[in-house]
Amino acid sequence: MKYRLRVEIVSFKSLASLSTGKYLLLGNEAIARGALEGGLGFAAAYPGTPSSEILESLVSVRDVLGIHAEWSVNEKVAFEAAYGASLAGVNALTAMKHVGVNVAADPLMSSAYTGVEGGFIVVTADDPSMHSSQNEQDNRWYGLHAYIPVFEPFDAGEAKEMTKYALTFSRSFKHPVIIRTTTRVSHTRGVVELGPIPELRSKGRFVKEDRYVVMPANARGNKVRLLSKWREISEAVNDAPFNRVEGDGRVLVVSSGNAYGYVVEALKHFRVRDKVRLLKVGTTVPLPKRLLIRAAEGVERILVVEELDPIVEEGVKAALYDVGFRVKVRGKDLVGYEFELNHVRVRRAIAEFLNLGYVGPQARPQPRDGVPARIPTLCPGCPYRPLFFELRRLVNQEKMSYIASGDIGCYSLSYNPPYRMQDVMIEMGSSIGVGYGLSVTTDDNVIAIIGDSTFYHAGLPPLLNALWHGSPMVVLILDNEVTAMTGHQPAPSTKGRDGTRYIPAENIVAGFGIKFIEVVDPYDVKAVRETVKKALRYVREAREPAVIIARRRCALEAVRDVRRAGVEIVPYVVLDDKCVGCGICYDWFLCPAITTKEGRKAYIDPELCVGCSACAQVCPTKAIVPLKDYNKEEVERFWR
Ligand code: SF4
Ligand code: SF4
Repeated sequence: MKYRLRVEIVSFKSLASLSTGKYLLLGNEAIARGALEGGLGFAAAYPGTPSSEILESLVSVRDVLGIHAEWSVNEKVAFEAAYGASLAGVNALTAMKHVGVNVAADPLMSSAYTGVEGGFIVVTADDPSMHSSQNEQDNRWYGLHAYIPVFEPFDAGEAKEMTKYALTFSRSFKHPVIIRTTTRVSHTRGVVELGPIPELRSKGRFVKEDRYVVMPANARGNKVRLLSKWREISEAVNDAPFNRVEGDGRVLVVSSGNAYGYVVEALKHFRVRDKVRLLKVGTTVPLPKRLLIRAAEGVERILVVEELDPIVEEGVKAALYDVGFRVKVRGKDLVGYEFELNHVRVRRAIAEFLNLGYVGPQARPQPRDGVPARIPTLCPGCPYRPLFFELRRLVNQEKMSYIASGDIGCYSLSYNPPYRMQDVMIEMGSSIGVGYGLSVTTDDNVIAIIGDSTFYHAGLPPLLNALWHGSPMVVLILDNEVTAMTGHQPAPSTKGRDGTRYIPAENIVAGFGIKFIEVVDPYDVKAVRETVKKALRYVREAREPAVIIARRRCALEAVRDVRRAGVEIVPYVVLDDKCVGCGICYDWFLCPAITTKEGRKAYIDPELCVGCSACAQVCPTKAIVPLKDYNKEEVERFWR
């Protein structure tokens, strides 16, 4: 009799009361579940793809399970909050994308010195191939750098078990643990077997100890204790259930994380699974050396397959050298350094390593795998579109020498044509910091463009600096009242969600002492133009920053609420007899709902149009009108 395994996709929240069963969870949901099963009491994060669903999941169950789960203003603050909770003995987690760890690196380095009291997990979700990131840094280096163990799951099922284990491991060694995932693990669903969630505790007690005060005298003692603990941890990882030797043979393949799955499939593909010894490494920092040496005994050569940097490869070479093994270790020379791994790359590497004469598709590391390029664009109804349209029109018409200093968020899409309103963009908060440097070293008009969430995250210190030193710069805060690009997590600009407080940007900048502060509606293109011109005049004369806050809700949020309220969305249409085919609406304004038809006349797709009305303002012949009369005020209230 054949049984079919039935595995369901369900909401994370609906699993909160279950302690058995198999469900299809995202890797990120599996981490959240593992943390709960491990006794989590406190979680804090700043959103960033591919990590965001971890805290999303925990927020969805916080009231049911009585834990604390919060979105913090940046990764450093999230880290510090979770670290503080763990000092009180509460099991804590913080999660961020790989570049977020750079923001949190300062407390991260010292947290290994002080140690913790409750279990403390730092999840870094790395992004090989940079699907939504500015670089593809391999954060396993942070573990090596900071003396913090790094656990690397290869699928959702292991991610859950590993997170649960990591909390206990961390608690028993009183030491932070990094869990490192990559996009494929974070965003792929896999079968996860649920276990019981113990009674969760979000309150603890802080016992004062000198080691928590990292004055030099205490820090020196901490370093000695840290190294001693590191030796114990290095020994303990040999017994971690995620490190194991599989199969046997005269050649050894060592693999970790996502790469392990590719290796297993490649060995099956070549029908050599039983001829190859395979060391699966779940704790890449520190390596399970005892296990490695046992696995390497008697083998003729070794291949290390891992994604991005040669962390395991270098560790394997060093460990074997230390015990006198002189065996050829290959890795990055066959696998390649850059971009995500895939089946073809791993098969090629294994075939070459095993002399299998494989002829298959070429497997050079590729940033894209044949998918046609598609320029990412702002959503229909996005409040930033009319703003960028008007800014572009202004600088063109005035033949203005300007530098648009950009930042990370939806508005980074304005780098693309036709707006081209990002000349430099490095990291969160850099628009104001880099803009400051440019404003004092050039004669150009510097316009720093930053979103609301990014402003709270990392924009405050550079703005303070710019004011302090008198920087002639216009700072444009694009306030759509949410952290939109990562999935609509709340920010201090979000009005009344989660019982948190609304803290408008103008209150903060007024507190700094900024004198020029204006709030405009980005849909009002005339007001945008006049305000930007006025601000540029002001900064030239006053030699200090001016702040413009362009405020209107994210279109996705507003439209969702309009629909929920049962209010009809009236799309806009183009009047053929009035349209002269000038192209302003489809070549320059570029709403995805607007295309062309014969005679270069414009056409609005009613399925995509959200009735925002912005395009009607930019049409010179007034050819764009609502499909029918409607109460504009009734709809407008959802956008404010
Ligand atoms: S902006 Fe107006 S006139 Fe120009 S193509 Fe669009 S609808 Fe036609
Ligand atoms: S009203 Fe115009 S700008 Fe707004 S969504 Fe529709 S087509 Fe796009």
